[in-house]
Parts: sequence; C-alpha cells; structure tokens
Amino acid sequence: MKKKIKIFVDFDGTISMTDVGDALFQKYADADWDKVVQDWKDGKISSREVFTIGCESTHISREELFRFSDAIEIDPFFKPFFNYCRQKSYPLTVLSDGLDLYIKRILDKEGLGEIEVIANELTFVGENKMHAIFPYYEKGCLVCGNCKGYQIREHREDGELIVYVGDGYSDRCAVPEADVLFAKDDLKDYCLENGIYFHNFNSFKDVLEEIKKIERELSKTEKK
Ligand SMILES: [Mg+2]
Ligand SMILES: [Zn+2]
Repeated sequence: MKKKIKIFVDFDGTISMTDVGDALFQKYADADWDKVVQDWKDGKISSREVFTIGCESTHISREELFRFSDAIEIDPFFKPFFNYCRQKSYPLTVLSDGLDLYIKRILDKEGLGEIEVIANELTFVGENKMHAIFPYYEKGCLVCGNCKGYQIREHREDGELIVYVGDGYSDRCAVPEADVLFAKDDLKDYCLENGIYFHNFNSFKDVLEEIKKIERELSKTEKK
C-alpha cells in the first residue's frame, strides 16, 4: 500500500525568516537573554523555563506584540508549498515549541490562518503582562515546553510517511520520529554531529522539490 505523506513544520526560523520568540525577548525582556538561551542550549534549563523568564521580564501590550509580529517575514516559498500540500491532501501541521499568539497572528496576516498550530500558549494578564501556558509539558521529555517527539507519536497513524522540517535545537525530539527529515542551521549541525541522515534545505522551494521526488519513489514502490 502506498504510504500517505503527513507533514510537520517548525515555525520559528523555518516558516518565519527570524526566530520570533527569540527576537521578541531579545528586544523586550529585561534579562540577559543571550545567557538564558545559552543555558537552554546547554541543557541547563527547559524551554518552559526560558519562556517563563521571558514573559516575566517583558512588559508589552498585546497591540505591541502584534505590531512586532506584523513586521516578521516568512519564507516566500512556504505559501506555494502549503498550497501544493493542500492540493495533494497532505495534512500539514505547524509544530512549535514557541508561543501560539504570534504564530497565529503571522499566519493569519499571510492568509494561512487555516493551518493547524500546536504550540505553547500565550495569554495576557492585564494590560502588559504576558503569561505562557504549557498544556503539553508534562507529556513530553520535560526539556521541551511542547515536545515535538511526543506530538508526532500522538498524531501519527499507521501507514504514514512522516516528514519533518526544522532549523533548531527545539526540533531534536522530532528527529527520531521523522521518516523524512529536512534540516538547516542548528538542526543541520546537530544532525551532522550525530550522524543523522537529513535533507539539506534553504527554503521551502527545496522542500517542495524533494517532496516531488519522494512522490515519484512512492509511486514506484506502489507499482512493484
Ligand atoms: Mg525553529
Ligand atoms: Zn522533547
């Protein structure tokens, strides 16, 4: 039987051209943000702690967050990629260890508001206090806020070919769950260091081309 393609995509730095969460707290948090991020990369603190520190030390309004988000650009090839997946009925889910409010704002602005997003949640308390909620934390590896490994195991069905596209350390738990892995930047380095096979990509143009190759391979095996 032909395998059905299911796609999971990271948001920050993968769909968006910049890591929005990182840029947001880098700009607004009253904390030594580089050190917080380094501690996270070194495994000293979880991403739940990272965002909790970020939110507690940041005082901006929802409007300001939206203004900041509206200036973020996305990979110009993501929309054609998404349209192709929709046309082929490949489910595509944004799987993020970032915060849902800015992700949904940016996708909405791009006319991509229909895409399912699984992420940590961001709310506002009063005028200018951000508060992050981690509904999936306990179910995951306890290092991620929203563990992508847990989410893929939870959402995959028999006979599916799981494609994962990512760029960073928060994608590490997705790696063993992916049948086809696309990696760039920090995730690419991680794969190279650990001898993990991956497809290199710079934009979703590369991902789309590779998916078309995979389709041809899948239809060959189907005919056998
Ligand atoms: Mg990322
Ligand atoms: Zn994890």
